[in-house]
Amino acid sequence: TNLTFDVRATDAPTSDADIAAVHENPGFGKTFTDHMVVATWTADGGWADAAVQPYGPFQLDPAAAVLHYAQEIFEGMKAYRHADGSVWTFRPEANAARFARSAHRLALPVLPEEDFIESLRRLVAVDEKWVPAGDEGEKSLYLRPFMFASEAFLGVRPAQRVTYSVIASPAGAYFSGGLTPVNLWISTAYARAGEGGTGAAKCGGNYASSLAGQLEGIENGCDQAVFLDSSTHTYIEELGGMNLFIVTADGRIITPELTGSILEGVTRSSILELAKELGLQPEERRIPIQEWKDGAESGEITEIFACGTAAVVTPVGELRWEGGRVDHRREGHVDRVAASIRDALLDIQYGRVEDTHGWMTRL
Ligand code: PMP
Repeated sequence: TNLTFDVRATDAPTSDADIAAVHENPGFGKTFTDHMVVATWTADGGWADAAVQPYGPFQLDPAAAVLHYAQEIFEGMKAYRHADGSVWTFRPEANAARFARSAHRLALPVLPEEDFIESLRRLVAVDEKWVPAGDEGEKSLYLRPFMFASEAFLGVRPAQRVTYSVIASPAGAYFSGGLTPVNLWISTAYARAGEGGTGAAKCGGNYASSLAGQLEGIENGCDQAVFLDSSTHTYIEELGGMNLFIVTADGRIITPELTGSILEGVTRSSILELAKELGLQPEERRIPIQEWKDGAESGEITEIFACGTAAVVTPVGELRWEGGRVDHRREGHVDRVAASIRDALLDIQYGRVEDTHGWMTRL
């Protein structure tokens, strides 16, 4: 079924001057556009009541299941403005497919891929002015589709009423430090996800469970936590919100294979394709954390970086853990591979090169 979206425009749209002020220094996830998408699913009637409506609070019953049992999923993607003024998004079908996989895992209804993409298109059409010019400072409009159990019922079972929504927020560079490397903390006290759990789904609960490890990292002078496999604490998985890559002196680029507890990043899979074009040999496999420690000591590892939609590519510096630390960087270190992959991705996303992969969709 294809949804039809009612458009109910706000009576009080933000002025051009106020939007320009937000675009000047957008930060991340602080300011929201004038409209939002809302659609409702019921077990009896399926998807209905789709609308683009003025941005504003939901009315939620205190017994809404999401508030108690965290039956919720989300996505994150960006709308980029090209030099000719047109607005595009990157591999939305990959996010739609991941949203559907997340829905299965959380026992939520699947929103058809066409409706997912159409909902983005409808919101951006109404709030087009909110998409910043992208030429400087990698600005974009971050799109946040999400779905949650809105049924008022305290029994533990899949909700029979579910709300889908999309909100949008102008975004600048995610880490204020730009390409400054982040230091990572190995969290062993806290796992983010376990075997058979929800690690491969983009559900709110994974982020809640990553926060204690993240705090532990910050208390130890790091920027982020790196999570290991929860059963043996041996293998590298990912960060709280980004996938990881290791670059070696002999031109390999290695990322943890998808084990079911790692989120399959759209950036990750794009980098695996781009790597070959940049003359690197991609490898997906289990990576023991010891290999990182040894390779950083020996000089075998030349670069480590994290990747994701929000931050694109961010170099990693020091790795720290209880009682130890290691740094792969030597005198005069440059994150050459991270920078070239980052530029290659941004060039495609901002339409500065031909999209030979067919990754861009016009909104
Ligand atoms: N891992 C986690 C846990 C994430 O939240 C994200 C962000 N969606 C990523 C990896 C990177 O995924 P993507 O490249 O699709 O943004």
